[in-house]
Order: sequence, then structure tokens, then C-alpha cells
Amino acid sequence: MNTTTSEASSSRQNLKQPDQFVYFFSAGETDGNASMKNILGGKGANLAEMTSLGLPVPPGFTISTEVCAHFCEAGGTLPSWVKPAAEQAVAKVEKILDKKFGDTTNPLLFSVRSGARASMPGMMDTILNLGLNDQTVEGLAKASQNPRFAWDSYRRFIQMYSDVVMGMNSSMLEVTLEDLKDEKKYKLDTELTVDDLKHLVKKFKDLVHSSTGQIFPTSPWEQLWGAISAVFSSWNTPRAITYRELHDIPAAWGTAVNIQSMVFGNMGDDSATGVAFTRDPSTGEKVFYGEFLVNAQGEDVVAGIRTPQPITKEAASKMGLPSLEELMPKAYAQLVENYKKLETHYRDMQDIEFTIERGTLWMLQTRNGKRTAKAALKIACDMLDEKLITNEMALLRLEPHSLDQLLHPTLDPKANKTLLAKGLPASPGGVCGKIVFSSEEAVIWKEKGEKVILVRVETSPEDIAGMVAAQGILTTRGGMTSHAAVVARGMGKCCVAGCSEVDVDYATETMRAKGYVFKKGDVITLDGGTGEVFQGEVKTIPPQLDQYFERVMKIADQYRRLKVRTNADTPRDAQMAREFGAEGIGLCRTEHMFFGADRIDAVREMILAENKFEREKALTKLLPMQREDFLQLFKIMDGLPVTIRLLDPPLHEFLPHDDAETKELSNRIGYDYDRLRSKVKSLHEFNPMLGHRGCRLAITFPEIYEMQVRAIAEAASVIVQSGKKLVPEIMIPLVGMEKELALLRELTIKTVEKVQKEKSVQFDYLVGTMIELPRAAVTAENIAQHADFFSFGTNDLTQTTLGLSRDDAGKFLGSYVSGGILPKDPFVSIDREGVGYLVKLAVDMGRRCRPSLKTGVCGEHGGDPESVEFFHQVGLDYVSCSPFRVPIARLAAARAAISGTKSTTH
Ligand code: PEP
Ligand code: MG
Repeated sequence: MNTTTSEASSSRQNLKQPDQFVYFFSAGETDGNASMKNILGGKGANLAEMTSLGLPVPPGFTISTEVCAHFCEAGGTLPSWVKPAAEQAVAKVEKILDKKFGDTTNPLLFSVRSGARASMPGMMDTILNLGLNDQTVEGLAKASQNPRFAWDSYRRFIQMYSDVVMGMNSSMLEVTLEDLKDEKKYKLDTELTVDDLKHLVKKFKDLVHSSTGQIFPTSPWEQLWGAISAVFSSWNTPRAITYRELHDIPAAWGTAVNIQSMVFGNMGDDSATGVAFTRDPSTGEKVFYGEFLVNAQGEDVVAGIRTPQPITKEAASKMGLPSLEELMPKAYAQLVENYKKLETHYRDMQDIEFTIERGTLWMLQTRNGKRTAKAALKIACDMLDEKLITNEMALLRLEPHSLDQLLHPTLDPKANKTLLAKGLPASPGGVCGKIVFSSEEAVIWKEKGEKVILVRVETSPEDIAGMVAAQGILTTRGGMTSHAAVVARGMGKCCVAGCSEVDVDYATETMRAKGYVFKKGDVITLDGGTGEVFQGEVKTIPPQLDQYFERVMKIADQYRRLKVRTNADTPRDAQMAREFGAEGIGLCRTEHMFFGADRIDAVREMILAENKFEREKALTKLLPMQREDFLQLFKIMDGLPVTIRLLDPPLHEFLPHDDAETKELSNRIGYDYDRLRSKVKSLHEFNPMLGHRGCRLAITFPEIYEMQVRAIAEAASVIVQSGKKLVPEIMIPLVGMEKELALLRELTIKTVEKVQKEKSVQFDYLVGTMIELPRAAVTAENIAQHADFFSFGTNDLTQTTLGLSRDDAGKFLGSYVSGGILPKDPFVSIDREGVGYLVKLAVDMGRRCRPSLKTGVCGEHGGDPESVEFFHQVGLDYVSCSPFRVPIARLAAARAAISGTKSTTH
């Protein structure tokens, strides 16, 4: 992977040592605040903010994200100016806490954690208990009067450090630990005695030596430099790069490093550690929601190694477990006070981490919590009612893409199902697929076109690619805040976590539940909303949109200027799009109607016709069918605009593609086989996308468009005669030359007028064109003389402007994006500099010629939030997209209107 190349080389010329790059945070002396995420990273900025708010935060300092670029630039070494500044900051912490780093009587220990500008859960590595060695561990044991705790911290430190900094396979030490537990018949890590832990520490260090060839570092300073470097290096690990690519996080941002004095949740039964959300991240309900573990350190909760217990009494009682509320009421009360303070301060749902050390609460992190789309909508509505946020804030906070989650199917409650097991409802949705037990297999099977469910005991950041490839994720261990749960929620993927009723055996690639054994490839179904796992495939139902969705959409509609239409050519799609709020049809691709079983043969007859007479005879058969198609769409759209595009694809697309089909057709329609074969051959084109298609068809065979226009006009007459309003929009595709449009406009007008006369009816209609060739865009001023509207066909316009085949470019575009040559796939998100430039040029020139010119876009970009923002900026009147993307476009258009005044990139 090579995402950093271009940014690294561009930064190479102007990397300067920043004036300040170490930012201190402690009560009464804090350099940063929440608005400094760019240089402090999210974690650092929020630690500073929490400290300023007076919350109990262990003191420490943040090394800024700018240093990450210097580190990468220097090939993975710390610049010389970092160490003295960090040493000074450490001295400051020592003074505040009256402890010394590396001291053998009362040692100061640090956590070293990453923190990028955007939160990347589980992506970057953390090191706890840094500063321990054979001498300081004795000091810690004495100072804490708890040798077990001291040695447990030491063995954890060796495990983390050897993994993150020294690149050792962490499972080797984990296995050693598990073996010892088995030998001693312990169930939990907390049963390990001081002697066990001492034995493990020695064994761990030996293993580190034998497997890495390096001695485990004993100098706390050496440990610190190693840890800081490892955090910076982890910015470019494959898993971090994958996450960045998935979430559009630029490589140039870099990560900050947070070095914070340690507090301990593993000091005994009066200590604990946990994570909490200020509202339920899955449903959005306003309940304090969290999990904790007694006598544990942070990574135990997040990694899902022990299944944690709920914080509140109410939630814990349902599971028959004691809650934090009951076990440590004082710390709980403080935590409640703090979370309320944080939520009011940030005006958003917070995801917090805390530790209780011997009854004293410490806040270790806060950030805006990741949530499902369903939860996001409910939280936004509740916070509006609570007057915590404004309409604009609510809309800007909702990620348009995430609405996609709501528009996906859930399990049919009436379907027959066999329940296998129940786990935690970690991320909603109903999915079925074939089970696989490794991330790699999930990716391979997906590439083969299979739908898979990734089944794991627990997931780790290495599993990201498999999680992306899978329909859903099932884990047997871990809570609602485990890696699998958090990451799946962020991706909008269905996930059932902590499903202990399922047994997974990686060695035999099987899973057992309810006495059944499932092999790799067997099908199961997950319900992420209830946590249930079912045997086989369960029927799903279309999504049900709730009141929160409707309310947010209504608010969005108040802000947006762009209209949102849909691309639809069947009554079903048109109906669905209206339910999603479409304000008309922006593109009806009439060729899709030609493929219907009842008419494809008539279409073929038309294509095979030897002369105009024969062609017209075939077209006469098609006319009533087309008229009925249009009539249905007009009825569903009930007065809303409907743009119908006349035939666009090359004709050979409708003919048989192989010998067997050719034979079968020749028999069916009584057309000589050899003649049919030679006709198919004669229609073959080397570059069909640049061939005899679009308006070029009608230049040679005007009767095709004539029939289609007649069908539109006859259907419109029926509507208008029934007293309803309708202004059909007739669209000519692939126009490159003014003359093409002039001729076909004349043909269209003549045909409509003829029908109006025959039917004695009058109605308004528009004749417009698609702009999907660069020549049309640059001569838009001339073309607009003959067009009432322009609809940008950005699929073809991207293909023809970039000279990239829309059918073949997928094979290599990935390298262009990961290599930084293109910021994004230009068929997904509009290439603003090139294609976008042409769109703007054509809009401006077109309007110069015809001020009333209507403009819209009907390429795939019409449903892409980033592109929608651009279309808002260049002043289009509407976007048109597939039905499922209508809500996404509505929200994106509102956000674009709120966040920018009308401006352009040129
Ligand atoms: C386009 O080219 O953008 C377009 C909408 O037309 P089609 O995708 O049918 O070629
Ligand atoms: Mg096109």
C-alpha cells in the first residue's frame, strides 16, 4: 500500500519544526482545548478539554500530529528535538504527582496512546504501565502495598510492549498465560498469584528474547521512545490504512501521541475500569449505557477478553449481575455527574472511558460516540427537544451515507425460523450468509460472489477487511463495546456479539449451537436488532422507517435548495421512491422497458427490419406497451415532473449474444438463422459506448424516437383529459452536436403536436437533452438554443472526459486511488476539477443563452453526498438518483445548503 507517497512527497518541501509540539494537560495548566483536534488529535484535544472542565484527568502531555509527518519523513525515526521537549514534560508530571519516572521506590508510570483527528476505534495501538522493569516493579509493589497488582501490571506491560513495539506475535505470550491458567485450574486472570505472575514475567522476557533476538528494554526512557515511535509507526500499518481508506481519512493527517500518567483499575476489588455511552449507541434511547470490569485494565473491556458487566443497576439486574451502581455507589454517582456534564458541554452523545483506582474515579477519554443510523436519528430528535442542539447542528451531525443502514431489510417477524442462540444485539439489520471462520476467507468468498457471515471468537483490528467483506459478524465473546461491536456499528454492518451459546472451533472450522454442528459454508441468519442467530436462511422484509427518520427528513427539506428526483423506470421503483420523498422522475431509461418478456421480440423485429415499412410495423406493436408504461409512471408521480429519456443503448444489446440464443430466436420469430447471424455480426461494434447509440440511433432511424414520443404524448393526453396536471419532459441522450438536437427537437415537437391535434388536447411539455459528452458541455451555449433543460449524464460524461471505460476501469482504478493519483473513484464521487468543471461551464453557458434553462444531474453521482454538495454549489436545480438513495440526497442537499453559500471550485 502506498497511500502516503504523494502526500509525503508534497510535504517534503515544507516540513518545518513546529514552534510548539508538546501540549501539557493538568489541573490548572492546560495548553490545548477541544477545538485543537487537528494538532492534538481527538483524544488529546478532549483530554485537554476535560481537564479544563475540572474533571478528574490524570496529568500528561500530547505530542502533536505534526510530529507524525516528521517521523514518517525521516523514515521512522524521532526528530532530535522531540526528546528534550518530552523530557521536560515528564519532569513537570513528576513534580505534580511527586513521583519519579524510573524510580525504584514510588515509580511514575505512563500510558502511551495514539489519537488521530478522526476517531479510529481499535485501529491504533496503546501501551499501558510503561516504566516498569525488575526494579521499578518492586517499588510499585511497595508503594501500592499490593505486589500482585504490581506484577500483574508488569506482565501486561511486557505483553503489550513486545507486541506493539517489538513486533512480536502476541498470541505466543497469551498461550503461555492460558497454559499456566489451565495447569493451575484457574478460570480468570485475576486468580493468578504473585508467584505465578513473577514466573510469567520471566518466561515472557525469555520468549521475547528467543523470538525477536532482542532483550526486553529495561530503561524506562528507552521504553518511552520506543512506544512513541511505535504509535507514530502504527499510523501506517495495513489495518490503519484500510480504516482510513474506508472512512476517507487523509494519510497526511497523522496521529498524535498521548503520554498520560497511569491510574489503575487493577489494584483490587475496589478498582475497576469501564467504558460508557451517555445514550444507547444502538437504539439512541436516553439511558446511561456502559460496561465495566472489576480489578481490570482498560484493554480487558475493549478487547472483549472478559465479558464485562453493565454499569447501571437496571441493566445489570436483567443479566443477574451486580452493577457498578451497587458495587461502587460513590464512584458511580460521580461518573453520572461527569457524563451529564460532558454531554451538556459537547452537546452530543459521548463515549467515555474511565478507571476507578481504589474507589477514586478518573476520566481517561471522551469523544462523540459512534452510533447506528437509527440511534443517530433518535438522538438528534431528542436533543432538539431538549434544546441542546439546533436544526442545523442536527443535520450537519448526521452522515448521509449512514441512512443507507435504515433502508436495508430486516428479518420478517412472520417467517419460520429455528433459533440457535442469542447473543448481544450489537449492530442492527437482518442478514444471512455462509459461515466462514477467518477474515481472509471472508474476503476470498466475497470475491467469488458469496454472501458470508464472519464467525469469530472475538475480532481484532486485523479482521477489518473480513468484516468489510462479510454481510454480518458473529462473535462468541465480548460485550457491546467489544471491537466487533464498535467497528460493525461504525460500518453499519449487522453484528451479534458475545454469543456464548455458540462454540467455535477454528481447527475443524466448525461451530456448534443447540446440538447442531455447522461447517464452513453452512448458512445461518443473524438478527442484529435482537442478537438472535437462526439456522439457514430467514426471509427478510423491506425497511420500516420510523417517526425520527420522517422528522429529520422534513427538517432537511426545509433547508435544501436542490430538488431530489429519482431514476426509475418501473412502477415499483417509482412508488418506492415517492415513499422515500422523491419529487419526480429525473431519468426513466426507456430501454429497460424494452427488455420485458412481452416485447423483446417486437424490439428485435424492429432492429432486424430491412426497411422503414417493416420497422414501423414492429414499432406499431411496441407503441401501446410503451404508452401503458408511461401512463403508469405519470399516475404514480401524480403531477410531479417526469423526465423520459428516449432510447440510448446500441441496438445489438437487444439481440442474442450466443449461438444457442440465436437459434432459438430464429425458430421463435421465423427469421432465417443465417441472416440473423449475419445481422448480429453486422451490428457488432469495437467501441459500442462510442458507437451507434443515443441520439445517433434516431438520426438514422427517426421512427424509433417518433414512436416513443407518440407513446409519451398519448399517455400524457390521457392524464390531461382526466383533469390532472402534467408537464412531461422528453430527453434526448448523447447529444454532441447542436444540429443533432435541433433535428430531433423538431421531430419531437411535430410528433407531440400531431397527437395533440388527433386527441384535441393541449398540454405543456419540455424537450431537453442530456449533457454527457465533453463537446456538448463546451458548446452548451449553442445546444441550449434547442433545449428546455439539461440533465447531466455524469456516468458517460466521466467516461468520456477522463477517457476511462465505465465498464472496465474498476480493474485498475483502485491503484489510482490508493496511489493518490485520483482522490476517489470518479464514477462514485464527481471529479470536481475535470468533469465538475465541465458541468459548471455548461450550466453557466446554457443559462446565458436561455435563462429559464432547467438543470439537473441523473448520473450515479446524484446520490453521492459529496457530489450533491458540488451540484448545490454550481447551482443545479435538482439531482436524480436511485430510489434507495433519495433520502441520502435529501439530507446531503440540506447539509450542502447549510454549510456553504453558493460558490464554486473555479
Ligand atoms: C449517464 O450517462 O450518466 C446516464 C445517466 O446515462 P446511462 O447511465 O444510462 O448511460
Ligand atoms: Mg449515459
